[in-house]
Amino acid sequence: MRYVSTRGEAPELDFEDVLLTGLARDGGLYVPAQWPKFSQAELASLSGKPYADVAFAVIAKFTGEKVPLAELKAMIADAYLGFGHPAVTPLKQLDADQWLLELFHGPTLAFKDVAMQFLARVMDWALARRKLSATIVGATSGDTGGAAIEAFKASRHASIFILHPEGKVSEVQRRQMTTVLSPSVHNIALRGTFDDCQAILKALFNDHQFRDSVTLAGVNSINWARIVAQVVYYVTSALALGAPGRPVNFTVPTGNFGDIFAGLVAKRMGAPVGRLIIATNENDILDRALKGGRYEVKGVKPSTSPSMDIQVSSNFERLLFEAYGRDAGAIRRLMASLGQSGAFTIETGPLSSIRAEFASGSADMAETAKVIAATLKETGELLDPHTAVGYGVARKEQGHSGPMVTLATAHPAKFPDAVERASGLRPGLPPRLAPLMMAEERMSVLANDPQEVKAFILERVGS
Ligand SMILES: *Cc1c(COP(=O)(O)O)cnc(C)c1O
Repeated sequence: MRYVSTRGEAPELDFEDVLLTGLARDGGLYVPAQWPKFSQAELASLSGKPYADVAFAVIAKFTGEKVPLAELKAMIADAYLGFGHPAVTPLKQLDADQWLLELFHGPTLAFKDVAMQFLARVMDWALARRKLSATIVGATSGDTGGAAIEAFKASRHASIFILHPEGKVSEVQRRQMTTVLSPSVHNIALRGTFDDCQAILKALFNDHQFRDSVTLAGVNSINWARIVAQVVYYVTSALALGAPGRPVNFTVPTGNFGDIFAGLVAKRMGAPVGRLIIATNENDILDRALKGGRYEVKGVKPSTSPSMDIQVSSNFERLLFEAYGRDAGAIRRLMASLGQSGAFTIETGPLSSIRAEFASGSADMAETAKVIAATLKETGELLDPHTAVGYGVARKEQGHSGPMVTLATAHPAKFPDAVERASGLRPGLPPRLAPLMMAEERMSVLANDPQEVKAFILERVGS
């Protein structure tokens, strides 16, 4: 399997190189040169199989000959062993044709575990094969950091440094990071905002001497291995509820567009996926882009669904590349316009091809709170605010037929304050996480200064 950059000026790579490279050298994102396909017979044989078996069938199509199949199978089995539900990502029916796909049974109670648990294992495999040790540095506003630390804490070839804005993540989120005391895990509480954390991260990656000296690697949502791992649950749920003649629709609470793009990949592979609905909170750049054809950055508004509070949705570039018939020159022009003026217009042809497969909607904080309260009353189910944005949009969506599955991206106990304000009920942590609130924490508070962060990392990875 070969991979090409959406901007067409970086070398073609194989899976292993894409995994370790992250962003392409031309600033683009890697996508497969062709979409791998399942035959109808293959799909039929996967129906009803355990999650790990479907994951193996899906992921092997993207790793190609690169990863030995027996090793791949073992990595996948191991990645999903720690989930709190035997189905890994179970479906739950809420109404006649409305379903929830629960993606929050992983170790940190957010859907990012599903991809990160696989990513850590496959990265370790690639680093071992190349006799490299890597330094993973990431910035988090909450969910990504915990999922990354939990996944990489047992890594034998990578140490991980996660920057979070001091005092600006929830207690559960902070503890999920700071109570992991493995010697290769380093938590940095930065005296600044999430944007400051991201700016420092960018500065570290742009310092090529530093970057090479510590073999810097990223685990953010543009990493192709994360997308691949997310394709799996679209396939399992489309097979469970759909049929070749009956496609299943998905509504996805969306931030960086990684999760919902995986749904398009499942569809390209031949899974019975119908319409894909983008759900945003008041940070609605994607909803505006789909409805009006103009992708225009505005300021971020903090909301009760913080993991969707984004300005620029990185993985949207992968969809644009598809919609423009893989014309890398067109993507370079759009991205140049975004860089210069913070906006671009999607041409009529590509826009209508996007609208043929995607729709969009948004729910603001007031509506999200109403959805949480109403869903509790009608079904007894307590939704987290991200899932509630999705479910609110799913219920309004008219342009589809057949089952609608909303992706439940976080457990309500991860956002207890917003859930309690909306519903009057304070969600409790699942019993397996109870020790978290008493465990010892470790973190280092650093000034908002790239030099200080650099020195901190160098001291600890000893190069
Ligand atoms: C990251 C995240 C999202 C958004 O996912 P994207 O892949 O960035 O679109 C939604 N909900 C939760 C709880 C998340 O952590």
